[in-house]
Amino acid sequence: MGSQISQYRARMKKSRECGSCSLCCRLLQIKILDKPAGEWCKHCDPGHGCKIHAVKPDICKTYQCQWLLGRGDDEWYPLKSKIIMDFTRVDNNDLVMRFTVDPGFPGRWREEPYHSFIRDAALKGLETKHWRTIVSINGKWTLILPKTEVPYRAGLTVEMPNGEWGFVATKDYAAAVGLARRLR
Ligand code: SF4
Ligand code: SF4
Repeated sequence: MGSQISQYRARMKKSRECGSCSLCCRLLQIKILDKPAGEWCKHCDPGHGCKIHAVKPDICKTYQCQWLLGRGDDEWYPLKSKIIMDFTRVDNNDLVMRFTVDPGFPGRWREEPYHSFIRDAALKGLETKHWRTIVSINGKWTLILPKTEVPYRAGLTVEMPNGEWGFVATKDYAAAVGLARRLR
């Protein structure tokens, strides 16, 4: 199954192009360029692309959002969805699946088909222990759980005895892990 998905993604990747989408050049922070999140990069010609294509930073040369890599259907084309889907790592090196929402459309992620997709991604990430899922709007992160959401902060996501997922806010990870073990 895994290789079938990889083959599907490889086929989708070949057929997908950024086109006139430059959303990542506006919504994402690019430290090396001193570009804050939510502002157009000074090197971007919106609708046409990068004006310094040949010499743009490596981070720009290698960046591909998850839609470009084949995840999600045409509804997820960032120019249409107003949401960039990608993976990033947080300070403790945990992998995070990030949905960065255009601040001009802050409620878009709660609309379908986006909302169900994001909740499903949250469940899959927790079940596989591969990632946590966040929605980012204007630099403000919200941790998404399968049935609820909490402001993103230090803490641990735990599976409760009733099978649902909860969040324990703490900076004491050892205590939180102990609590999670007791709950299982
Ligand atoms: S958000 Fe994705 S599709 Fe849009 S320009 Fe960036 S990489 Fe390309
Ligand atoms: S340097 Fe080019 S690719 Fe990188 S953010 Fe700016 S416009 Fe986009």
